[in-house]
Amino acid sequence: MAMPFRQNVRLGRYLLKQKLLRREKFPLLVELEPLFACNLKCAGCGKIEQPAALLKKRMPVEQAVAAIEESGAPMVSIAGGEPLMHKEIDEIVRQLLARNKIVFLCTNALLMPKHLHKFKPHRNFSWMVHVDGLKDRHDLSVNKEGGFEGAIDAIKMAKAAGFRVMTNTTFFSNDSPQNVIGVLDYLNDVVEVDNMQISPAYAYQKAPDQEHWLGVTETRELFAKAFANGRRRKWRLNHSPIFLDFLEGKRDLACTAWGIPSYSLLGWQRPCYLLDDGYAATYKELIEETDWDAFGRGKDPRCANCMAHCGYEPTAVIATLGSLKESVRAAVGR
Ligand code: SF4
Ligand code: SF4
Repeated sequence: MAMPFRQNVRLGRYLLKQKLLRREKFPLLVELEPLFACNLKCAGCGKIEQPAALLKKRMPVEQAVAAIEESGAPMVSIAGGEPLMHKEIDEIVRQLLARNKIVFLCTNALLMPKHLHKFKPHRNFSWMVHVDGLKDRHDLSVNKEGGFEGAIDAIKMAKAAGFRVMTNTTFFSNDSPQNVIGVLDYLNDVVEVDNMQISPAYAYQKAPDQEHWLGVTETRELFAKAFANGRRRKWRLNHSPIFLDFLEGKRDLACTAWGIPSYSLLGWQRPCYLLDDGYAATYKELIEETDWDAFGRGKDPRCANCMAHCGYEPTAVIATLGSLKESVRAAVGR
């Protein structure tokens, strides 16, 4: 895993604690969505189709922090919507960092230049910038001319100001292995971001684009070709080797949907960030009253093509930290 060593140690300690406490289900990371509004309209987005009244709402700081505290998760990924449209997003970040959480702030980066001064570099804080491909590909995906240049300029500005910057890239069925190689080479070698995340697009029922979802076989072929010839080792990917093996079809994994739960304006989303089977008011209720065994490939038809990070990286991380061999592999990034 190309995560910073310190964060791996922290996660390892957290997992050991869960084992000692004999907890069967626990969150590794919470996807926090303090708003659904966004300044973009991406074709593959399932979030911005919410009713207008909900798009206007913002989660109070205390509510966001209390939800994370209740869950006990060591890491928080703040998304939305576009979190920089939340007036108190900097305060949410500050309060989570003060509670020793590892925080990723996910953004399409277009508002970053305007808001960067509200944040300070911190060893537990990273910007996570959404970059779906090189210029034409990204601009098409986010439905905005100049979206790519805006994101890259914002990344450079944040890096120059001393921030840790990561990227998150989603691939669709109209991406070729060369698209994957092109954007990851560029982010890794030219922009020199700290780490990169990748994900096959999940087939959101609410997204406007319903044509370009990847099936399992297509996902495996795409990543097997893109990762060939030692490229996978060269890129600073923020994933465990087991998850990358899974993406390129070298091994299969079961979904661990409870590992990365999602908390939004609507509550704790059942069972995961991608499906929408109602909401629980508390984390305790989510864990205790969700039929976790009903989800995953082969169990729920909506999970049939899902190979998303939120379901399968927790499985991979738990398998990694439970095995000395896999831990060593992760430490050296193989
Ligand atoms: S930037 Fe993110 S939240 Fe905004 S429309 Fe695109 S995918 Fe949705
Ligand atoms: S496989 Fe897991 S992560 Fe994917 S949609 Fe189903 S429950 Fe959610």
